[in-house]
Amino acid sequence: MTMSLAQQVLSGNRRAIARLITLVENEDPAARQALAALYPHTGRAHIVGVTGAPGTGKSTLVNELAKAYRQRGKTVGIVAVDPTSPFSGGALLGDRVRMQELSGDPGVFIRSMATRGSLGGLAWATSDVVKVLDVAGYQTIFVETVGAGQSEVEIAEAAHTTIVVTTPGLGDEIQAIKAGILEIADIFAVNKADLEGADRAVAVLRMMLDLDPRPRNWRPPILKTVALRGEGVEPLIEAIEEHGAHLLASGQRRQRERERARGELMDILRHELMRGLLAGVDQAEIEALVERVVERQMDPFTAARALLEKEVRYGGG
Ligand code: GDP
Repeated sequence: MTMSLAQQVLSGNRRAIARLITLVENEDPAARQALAALYPHTGRAHIVGVTGAPGTGKSTLVNELAKAYRQRGKTVGIVAVDPTSPFSGGALLGDRVRMQELSGDPGVFIRSMATRGSLGGLAWATSDVVKVLDVAGYQTIFVETVGAGQSEVEIAEAAHTTIVVTTPGLGDEIQAIKAGILEIADIFAVNKADLEGADRAVAVLRMMLDLDPRPRNWRPPILKTVALRGEGVEPLIEAIEEHGAHLLASGQRRQRERERARGELMDILRHELMRGLLAGVDQAEIEALVERVVERQMDPFTAARALLEKEVRYGGG
């Protein structure tokens, strides 16, 4: 039955895709099984991360990008991730406008996701949802995240090409440096270029790139857009495509995927080892150790070692 779900997803069946995504979000064991079967078919889509502060126009821009890609005959997946809002099971902010414009199009698949507990969990789920859309045949997949710190960096790691969206004024450029966003940007979009200060925002970003001492073999282009009117979208698409071609030609796509695979593997190992360990330990035992640490009878490192050694002796897994 699971196998047939995987096959249905592979053939692009929208209901099957939606169902598998729900299983992924619910951490249903059936999802793991289906994803394992589907994994050999992943790796075809161009994954484009779009990040930036709330209100910079990411949703509007992704909407316009999706429309333009559709005009080029390409299929598009959109995963809108909001690490700042709790999971509400479906329709979220990101869905609003574009749902109406794009939802009737079978060449577009849109899904919103939000945190349920850990950010790490969200990054995993996002990565799995992207894999589902990838095997379902969506050629360009946008992963839209709110620029909220570590989480969007994690999610950006899943992308081949990351677009950082800023707007004129508001010192967004400075914010960008603080958030370490300069490191993850492959393309800068200065959106709301209809507002005053767009040229200055471009100049500041250009200066930041000039001052950045890190070696680069790709200099992120800085493009002005007016997402509200669809202006600057074509040059942005050209930049996305160029960056995609650059990654392939330079071998960097492979390298990024290798780093990502390593990161994912280590994450899963850490998670599984921790789970295996904690499964064999009484919560009361942990609390007792916590008390001893609080009472200064034992240091935290020795307490952790005590648990680990017990696990090794009696076998926790
Ligand atoms: P997000 O939070 O980054 O996804 O931003 P939204 O796409 O929701 O846009 C936030 C607001 O900015 C909305 O009211 C948009 O209509 C508006 N907006 C988006 N693009 C532009 C633009 O190019 N110029 C102007 N003036 N407003 C824009």
